[in-house]
Amino acid sequence: MEIKLLKISGHEKTAKVGKITVTVNQEVKAGDVLVNLESKKGNVQVVSEYNGKITKVLIEEGNSVNINDSLFDIDGEKGKAEKAEKKGYSFGLAKAKKEDINCDIAIIGGGPGGYVAAIRAAQLGASVTLIEEKRLGGTCLNNGCIPTKSFVKSAHLFEEIKNCQEFGISVSDYSIDMGQVVDRKDGIVDTLVGGIGHLLNIGGVKVLEGKAIITEDLITVKNKKIDAKVEAKNIIIATGSSPVKLNIAGADLEKVLTSTELLDLKEIPKSMTIVGGGIIGMEFAFIFNSLGSNVTVVEFLDDILFALDTDVIETIKYQCEERGIKLHTSSRVDQIVETDKGQLITQFIKDEELQYCVGDYVLMAVGRKPNLDNLDLDQLNINLNEKGNGVAVDESMKTSNEKYYAIGDITNIIQLAHVASHQGVVAVENIMGEKSKMHYDAVPSAVFISPEIGIVGLSEKEAEHKDITYKTGVFPFAANGKALTLNEGEGFVKVLVNPEDQTILGAAIVGPGATDMIANFTYLIDNKVKANALAHTIFAHPTTAEAVHEALLSVGEGAIHFA
Ligand code: FAD
Repeated sequence: MEIKLLKISGHEKTAKVGKITVTVNQEVKAGDVLVNLESKKGNVQVVSEYNGKITKVLIEEGNSVNINDSLFDIDGEKGKAEKAEKKGYSFGLAKAKKEDINCDIAIIGGGPGGYVAAIRAAQLGASVTLIEEKRLGGTCLNNGCIPTKSFVKSAHLFEEIKNCQEFGISVSDYSIDMGQVVDRKDGIVDTLVGGIGHLLNIGGVKVLEGKAIITEDLITVKNKKIDAKVEAKNIIIATGSSPVKLNIAGADLEKVLTSTELLDLKEIPKSMTIVGGGIIGMEFAFIFNSLGSNVTVVEFLDDILFALDTDVIETIKYQCEERGIKLHTSSRVDQIVETDKGQLITQFIKDEELQYCVGDYVLMAVGRKPNLDNLDLDQLNINLNEKGNGVAVDESMKTSNEKYYAIGDITNIIQLAHVASHQGVVAVENIMGEKSKMHYDAVPSAVFISPEIGIVGLSEKEAEHKDITYKTGVFPFAANGKALTLNEGEGFVKVLVNPEDQTILGAAIVGPGATDMIANFTYLIDNKVKANALAHTIFAHPTTAEAVHEALLSVGEGAIHFA
């Protein structure tokens, strides 16, 4: 008898063969997993409908399979219905059967913290179980970093076409289809999520799809497909964070969205109010401004992107003015009201006066709160940090209960994907006996607006606050040939240096390629390199990286192309 591939997921017709879990002559029972497939929508396990012996394996790991392909020959008979899915497949990551799992490390949450920790743990030889409630990749891949940057690309391209006359190009007929923008984003996300499933699979990580609940050191995952109990020597909590809305009248209106919902909006609003001028709020402000929306940002603090240096903020504020992004700072939003025509009036208090702005939609970008629910941390003797808004950890990422580690947004130290991932690596290496330490001296941040921003290490604001002496070197992109050819001469490279020993302490880049170029400074700061060490390093011409060189030169004897 042949076992065929009857369904993958949704309308998918092809998948890649992952780990084949049975061999010729192996006895299998109905419900046993035969092979893992990797599809664009995630991992799929094909299970046996039969009790019997496998007589032939007709597929090979790494090859593609299509619907109706024969996968195995089996000598046996149909098993009981409760043991096998009727269609001979199971979509998802595990089967609805009782499982008692014992492993070295269990990880709760498959975001950039959890999945990276799982891969590193497997590399170090641990047996690993990863439990994910929604989709592998977490916020970053599904509703955060990657989707927003896919939108940024569409928005840039649209804007470049609008402004292409400057480059001697005329395009008379162009338009944008937001449905396709969202579909493109979904395609990229699906590819990446599938890729993570593949990596976990080849690393031998056991992935359970469901919500993990911990009671007295035992993790249970129970739903239609899974009834598993997981015992582990160590447990890593990587449950991430969720968007919050202000607790004000109107916050629950249908068109008051968080970033998660906005990323699936298949129309371009004529107008949009963004409550919150932090990184997420400002990225969306630039995206929708480029797409043609009339954007107003209302920020509670005295400035947008408040944590950044004033010269960085001023460059961005100038751009907002040029582009027509309206900014209201020092403004406290206190209610949102929907008009008869379906528009949203956002009311805020500024200079002790009531003010309003109107938009088709409101984006609430007012922060994210760690997912602490369902964990019952008290019962596990796991302490929260001093503010009570994240799990407290030491530099090895261990919590107050030494069996448990916590990584990523749940710790609320720095809510960035690469921080979560690195914390995951540190946690796992400590569990496996290596003495890694997490430090935050050289954590880069990237803001994908126009011009882009990259920052790392000490800022001027922080130096002044902590009374740290420093000197700066600055080079403007207006004096960089490559930036001018790109028509992106706004912004600068700024470096902060210790005047005593010349070591580089921090940097800010505002300008073309800033989010990639900041890696140069991350490396220099992390390795305590002195500013003059690069005086004789040759940078390719013409590149925007020359501005990094010139900023470093300007700390000492002076930049060549700027006085
Ligand atoms: P998450 O990515 O949130 O993953 C946690 C996972 O745990 C989730 O998948 C969740 O379903 C799962 N989970 C929760 N509870 C349970 C449970 N009980 N059982 C099983 N599973 C559970 N960061 C950057 O570095 N660069 C960017 O450009 C960037 N852009 C962003 C843009 C937006 C719009 C947003 C919202 C965020 C952005 N971030 C960015 C932040 C980044 O997404 C997060 O810092 C990162 O995802 C945190 O990783 P994490 O693994 O800690 O948590």
